[in-house]
Amino acid sequence: MTTMSRDAVHSAASPDASWADAFVESVAERDAAAPLVLTCEHGSEALPFGFALDGGDAWLRGTHWAFDLGAAELTRELAVRLGAGAVVAGFSRLVVDPNRPLDSDTLVRDVAEGRTIAMNADVDAGSLERRLALWRAYHVALDRLFLASRAPLALSVHSFTPVYEGAVREVEVGVLFDREEALAAELFARFREAGFEARLNEPYSGKLGLIYSVSAHAAVSGRRALELELRQDLAVDPAVRARVCAVLAAFSREVAAKLARADDG
Ligand SMILES: [Zn+2]
Repeated sequence: MTTMSRDAVHSAASPDASWADAFVESVAERDAAAPLVLTCEHGSEALPFGFALDGGDAWLRGTHWAFDLGAAELTRELAVRLGAGAVVAGFSRLVVDPNRPLDSDTLVRDVAEGRTIAMNADVDAGSLERRLALWRAYHVALDRLFLASRAPLALSVHSFTPVYEGAVREVEVGVLFDREEALAAELFARFREAGFEARLNEPYSGKLGLIYSVSAHAAVSGRRALELELRQDLAVDPAVRARVCAVLAAFSREVAAKLARADDG
């Protein structure tokens, strides 16, 4: 964990942080009847000026530690298909993880696979302030997205590595939830019907605070939130993403219609 006191955060100089907006991609909602809003916290491995994965950190480039392969593409494709709004983080989770609350031990991860991440080993106040500016820019964009939309559902899109610390993962699609168990079970069943090896709250549970971003925004805005985890080898395949998009589009349209009827009744 990076040891940096909150006092240091607040006493750090806070110059204009609008530069951070360049590292957040917002897709405007094009259909006022779009059934969902989309979030993608780990969509990019881009590093702002002043951050670098070199020397002993070079092995992290292109890996799931840096970003979720295929997740940004799936988010954009689903947004286009549904006319939905979306926000994609345009910076690496290694700089700061927008899917973690500010008090998380892994907000700025300093160890991966037992190896120290040199870029994050000794974070000074100035560096931390720049990282937090990115975190805030991402969540301000999500605030805007949720405020601008009437969609009843929110979906966070991620991918996971097929082999984690030596263990091969059979699961292809994880439907993660914390509060929305029934909704998750419905989506899980649809992925099974479509021939995917789907699991609920695998490869890890949404109840562990690990779907922080979409869950937090959904909670304050009255949305129903789920997180999708697609195995990385499938997420980078456009043909598989098209099948996943078809499942998600049909599910979200039908659920949104059902919720609208319930509201009318
Ligand atoms: Zn992720």
